[in-house]
Amino acid sequence: MTVPMYRSTRGSENQVSSTEAIVRGIAEDGGLYVPAEWPGVIEDLHTLKEETYQKIAFRVMAPFLGDFTDGELKACIEKAYDKKFDTTETVVLTKAAGVHFLELYHGPTLAFKDMALTILPHLMMVSAKKLNLDQEIVILTATSGDTGKAALEGFAGVPGTRIIVFYPASGVSQIQKRQMVTQTGHNTHVIGIEGNFDDAQNGVKAIFGDGKLKKRMKAAHKMFSSANSINIGRLVPQVVYYFYAYARLMKKGEITPGQEINFVVPTGNFGNILAGYYAKMMGLPVNKLICASNDNKVLFDFFRRGTYDKKRDFYTTISPSMDILISSNLERLLFLLTGEDGDLTRDFMDRLNKKGEYSITPQMKEKLADFYGGFATEEQTRKTIKQVFSSAGYLIDTHTAVAYSVYQDYLQETGDNTPTVVLSTASPYKFTRDVLTSLDEKYAGRDEFELIKEMSALLKADIPGPLAGLENRPVLHKSICTKDEMQKEVEKRLGL
Ligand SMILES: *Cc1c(COP(=O)(O)O)cnc(C)c1O
Repeated sequence: MTVPMYRSTRGSENQVSSTEAIVRGIAEDGGLYVPAEWPGVIEDLHTLKEETYQKIAFRVMAPFLGDFTDGELKACIEKAYDKKFDTTETVVLTKAAGVHFLELYHGPTLAFKDMALTILPHLMMVSAKKLNLDQEIVILTATSGDTGKAALEGFAGVPGTRIIVFYPASGVSQIQKRQMVTQTGHNTHVIGIEGNFDDAQNGVKAIFGDGKLKKRMKAAHKMFSSANSINIGRLVPQVVYYFYAYARLMKKGEITPGQEINFVVPTGNFGNILAGYYAKMMGLPVNKLICASNDNKVLFDFFRRGTYDKKRDFYTTISPSMDILISSNLERLLFLLTGEDGDLTRDFMDRLNKKGEYSITPQMKEKLADFYGGFATEEQTRKTIKQVFSSAGYLIDTHTAVAYSVYQDYLQETGDNTPTVVLSTASPYKFTRDVLTSLDEKYAGRDEFELIKEMSALLKADIPGPLAGLENRPVLHKSICTKDEMQKEVEKRLGL
């Protein structure tokens, strides 16, 4: 078996193995790692029909991770997708309101980030071992809420690693914040910043890009890596559940093998939906990938006009994990649209950096036909939550509601009746206040922790384990800094 190599989307670097790509996170030239040779097509889709999540994960991930032995990869999968998930199926497909909701939120932090972040630390440890690294791996992450907690859970207590998470101090929900600042584990650091998610992400990027700091790190036997969705070790595990959804639909007799389906993806950093595109490249019969945005609709405009323009107001919405103006993973799609041309991709990224926008060519835009872009306003999002609950008795979170709202627009515009899967990216319990006030104004002004109990009563179901008793856990992380102080904070924590 050949070892698949990864290269940078900006072209100016030698190829690296999958283990190196996972440990480094981001390429030296600032680009993102992409497979230099694409995994083959999975031809015998019907054989997935009876398979478990773990078996499908192995089938889908192995071709991306050629320098892992079968035994190593299987061990990572077993350690990740175990009893941490509150269902033996790992993810659940529920039919309601004319679509199939793919519930990706049954993991330890109740959001879809768990699908990748429960396995990334294991992939990273195996990679470090195979590369004979004697350095401490320092995970540096900016989060819009969900990544931070999921990464903290994943890396807490993992030997040879340390994790530092920056979050926008007033840009995450009360519950998200509480989940992060109560994180245990001697190797965890959680710091709020006075700014939005893009400020946090830019700060992290600047620290990664600081050559002098890198040298000092090396001297101290430390190295930075990333758990953000730019890491290929995040992206590859996300390809799995697109195949799993398809397998479940076949098993339930909803589709026949080979039949095309649509996916609707609530999108922020473009990692989740890109994984769907990779699944399509591996032969999954996908008709449309429907990209759903909130009021920060930079991707909607991109799909309509072919211009990516980040020069606009930033909105804080009730779907905060999608409040993003720079969708980092779009660079990987751009790379494919250019015919895998690193120089062209670098030019586009330079333009985005310097001018705040770039426009793709008409030929590139033609290749975007696999996608449909839509967005939902705050009002539409709230209405959708209420509508789906009253009509189907099924409660969805704010991010999933953005997706369902966009799907309704898509249906109206196209009349396309292809079976459709809506990716459900967070439990409604995670955004309790906005979900409940969408149903009824009577919940306004109440404490979020009390509302968790109200939701449990409404659904006649137990409070999910990870939230039970959260309000009583001690706050262990209290630091807040400005965006200019981020590097100093990191140096302090690492004793540099
Ligand atoms: C991260 C996140 C998203 C956006 O996913 P991307 O991969 O960044 O596009 C959507 N919904 C929820 C709940 C999330 O946590």
